[in-house]
Amino acid sequence: MSAIDGLPPLREVIATHELRAKKNLGQNFLLDLNLTSRIARVAGDLSQTDVIEVGPGPGGLTRGLLAEGARKVLAIEKDSRCLPALAQIGAAYPGRLEVIEGDALKIDPLAHLTPPIAICANLPYNVGTELLLRWLTPEVWPPFWQSLTLMFQKEVAERIVAQPGSKAYGRLAILTQWRAEARIALHLPPEAFTPPPKVSSAVIHLTALPEPRFPADLKVLERVVATAFNQRRKMLRSSLKGLTPAIEDHLTAAGIRPTDRAEQIPLEGFCALARSLATV
Ligand code: SAM
Repeated sequence: MSAIDGLPPLREVIATHELRAKKNLGQNFLLDLNLTSRIARVAGDLSQTDVIEVGPGPGGLTRGLLAEGARKVLAIEKDSRCLPALAQIGAAYPGRLEVIEGDALKIDPLAHLTPPIAICANLPYNVGTELLLRWLTPEVWPPFWQSLTLMFQKEVAERIVAQPGSKAYGRLAILTQWRAEARIALHLPPEAFTPPPKVSSAVIHLTALPEPRFPADLKVLERVVATAFNQRRKMLRSSLKGLTPAIEDHLTAAGIRPTDRAEQIPLEGFCALARSLATV
């Protein structure tokens, strides 16, 4: 029995339900419930919050979230082999765990939840960045979620919090920091997982800002940033010239030197450029 919830230890759960990790589902499980409780605590006080967990697997983080007091956890899992183990957790926390079997990229969980809503997940690496970008780029802001507590490969986590002038700075940093407060909360070595992945990991914590840091149209900003970083070594007057022949005028109007490179431009500069280009 585990100290946090009286349920069997995760190694036993995995053996009982024959949950051999599948690589194509990005399955690297966390088996230490002290660690999963620690990750749940990064999300803050969840006692008045519904939590979406993508990819609960055998339920290590699910158990951490419930033991730490989450009002409700809605867990979306693609691998049907995990459902019996998750049902056992649901029985230990009556009315607080709902499990949906399916692909998180295709499911709209909102009908199942009451705000405020947080998202907490040890994400499958193959869909993690896509989900993050979706959560960051709804048409209307603020979004349905208040915070995101997410596991990523260390390199991806570093791209999310990167500052201008660094190699990691790019589209992910700009889209994240435009609308959210972001920090790396925990670093985890490969051995924290079973089986251990090839890379180190990190938990990031994002809090949605009430409004974006600087005004800009989302679609224009996305296009400018994608185009600028597509050829990050080039001067902006050259990498962005496909957007409009008058790009130098727009760069100057936004306070950017046309000879600068994407990597040097702070978020505020990209937003000013998106505002100037919105009229084109
Ligand atoms: N949360 C568990 C833990 O921390 O031990 C498992 C994490 S494991 C890195 C990722 C989990 O996401 C696996 O259980 C996998 O089956 C599930 N998964 C993969 N792709 C998914 C998808 N598109 N939608 C929902 N779950 C998915």
